[in-house]
Amino acid sequence: MCRIKKIMFGEDELKRIVSDLADKINSDIKREGIEKLTLLCVLKGAAVFTSDLARRLDVPDLRLEYIRASSYGMGDVSRGKVEINGLTSEIRGADVLVVEDIIDTGRTLAQMREYLKEKSPKSLRFCGLFDKPDRRAADFEADYIGVRIPDEFIVGYGLDYAEKFRHLPYVAVVEPSGAIENDK
Ligand code: 5GP
Ligand code: MG
Repeated sequence: MCRIKKIMFGEDELKRIVSDLADKINSDIKREGIEKLTLLCVLKGAAVFTSDLARRLDVPDLRLEYIRASSYGMGDVSRGKVEINGLTSEIRGADVLVVEDIIDTGRTLAQMREYLKEKSPKSLRFCGLFDKPDRRAADFEADYIGVRIPDEFIVGYGLDYAEKFRHLPYVAVVEPSGAIENDK
């Protein structure tokens, strides 16, 4: 089975990262006079982050919506193909901020951008809590990034390994699969 190797961000650090991100977003939407914002959470990974971020955003009319993107199988190996579905509402004419857990190759959000553009939102922006810039394969940069991290597979605070660890209040690195098998 898979084991936690080391903690990368504790609860207090995560709080600070989310609060700094919220400050940036708040100042931009205030400057632009946006009073109605649709926060579009990419399930499942971004659910925990979205709920913390939403509670720090200072918008008179904040809508919380969900969409699903699956780019990974049951482990930590990307299949390259992204499936997008399950958008819960109409976004035509809306100011939309997509909230994602982590940007890795960038394929998920590059495809998400095309998928959502077709639906004619008024504006479309992207926020990622974590970013692994060294792994980028698609042409995609987010408007807001919480923190850049090295190329390590992380879990916790919504992020999973084969559907486990999403509930951890901290973010940790797990042992790579090869080492796990030998570590009985
Ligand atoms: P991308 O399309 O940018 O390569 O992949 C983004 C998706 O891959 C994320 O939404 C997330 O589901 C998954 N992913 C990428 N890196 C990690 C990681 O370190 N840990 C976990 N749990 N998921 C990751
Ligand atoms: Mg994801």
